[in-house]
Amino acid sequence: MSALLQERPAVAPPTRAAFDPKAVRRQFPVFARNPGLVFLDTAASAQKPDCVIDGLAEYYRADYANVHRGVYGLSARSTARFEAARDRVAQFLNAADASEIVFVRGATEGINLVAQAWGPAFLKPGDQIVVSELEHHSNIVPWQMLCHRLGTELVVAPIDDGGALDLAAFAGLLTSRTRLVAMTHVANVTGGVVPVERVVQLAHAAGAKVLLDGCQAVPRLPVDVQALGCDFYVFSGHKCYGPTGIGVLYARRAVLDAMPPWQGGGDMIRTVTFAETTYQDAPQRFEAGTPDIAGAVGLALALDFMDGLGMDAIREHEAALTRHARSALSGLPGVTIVGAGAESVGVVSFEVDGLHPHDLATIFDQHDVAIRAGHHCAQPLMDRLGLVATARASFGVYSDEDDVAALVAAVRAAQRLFGLVSAR
Ligand code: PLP
Repeated sequence: MSALLQERPAVAPPTRAAFDPKAVRRQFPVFARNPGLVFLDTAASAQKPDCVIDGLAEYYRADYANVHRGVYGLSARSTARFEAARDRVAQFLNAADASEIVFVRGATEGINLVAQAWGPAFLKPGDQIVVSELEHHSNIVPWQMLCHRLGTELVVAPIDDGGALDLAAFAGLLTSRTRLVAMTHVANVTGGVVPVERVVQLAHAAGAKVLLDGCQAVPRLPVDVQALGCDFYVFSGHKCYGPTGIGVLYARRAVLDAMPPWQGGGDMIRTVTFAETTYQDAPQRFEAGTPDIAGAVGLALALDFMDGLGMDAIREHEAALTRHARSALSGLPGVTIVGAGAESVGVVSFEVDGLHPHDLATIFDQHDVAIRAGHHCAQPLMDRLGLVATARASFGVYSDEDDVAALVAAVRAAQRLFGLVSAR
């Protein structure tokens, strides 16, 4: 090595400021307005930061008009904001092109769009759709409805006793009749991270298309749809710090181009006569009527917010907090945690002996601890687990170890109240 090289000072890799959930929390006005609130229900819907709330208000104040049809400046500006939001989503997911992004109301609508537009065009009786036992009802019911309509079959890939997708069993279910695999990326009940890269490889090898439900993944992990290789990916804006009423369906361009429209109306047509209608190219072909323009603008602001924190840093923060919560809860007598497989992020489901989850959640509320109790829109998973309901705590970028301490204290308080542990 030359002396010059030896003398060169070591260059430290660029460092991001340590993730500080307390500082992040100050950007969420709900916590100032509700002092003492311990919010552990982010998996149901995330709170909104100032930049999204203020940015939305500013868009309405300065740039709002209907999109696409106006020739005047304000409409052009609003259209530019709307289409810039599409570009932002494409960039966030690393889609190959913004035309692969369809704005929908949420993940539920995205899945229904695929079921109703792609399904009848590409499926025939006897074809199979594979889902997993981990799915939210949104990724079960639309396929079940389609199966009833077309005579296709719903096949269910099992989880193992630890709560992970049983990959070997999944691989064994794939046949030449499998046309679609529809699977969650992160399970909403357990927080389990599904090895979706492997799922996509196996499904594609069998000749099936893959839809991934990214509702719980997009707020918590970096997602790269090209690296995943999936055909469809859906998520909801409200779960990743954006507004309600907006969501995204990503579909590979070739897949989207081959799909007929699903809803008819304004904005999705090229020409209309009483005899015939011709349609726009994707994605406009799938966006009939006035879209949720402000929702898209707000979603783009939310993605900016998450990228500002860094998706790797968010993943690290949520995974560490989840490990901490699992360990703290499992140390309590009478508490059982629902298995999530090898890796989980952002969500912990648990049971407390002798206490119904709904009673638990009600008692927690008296301590200002907001959790969710119930089947979490995953009744088939509850059946598989032999449970009617669980208590679920879920985290966001503003959650920290103090929230976990409050959760643990609330469990102890509930147990004491019901005489399930000594009052000391
Ligand atoms: N999929 C998963 C994994 C979810 O957690 C949820 C919501 O909880 C959904 C789908 C449905 O999302 P939305 O109601 O926003 O359409």
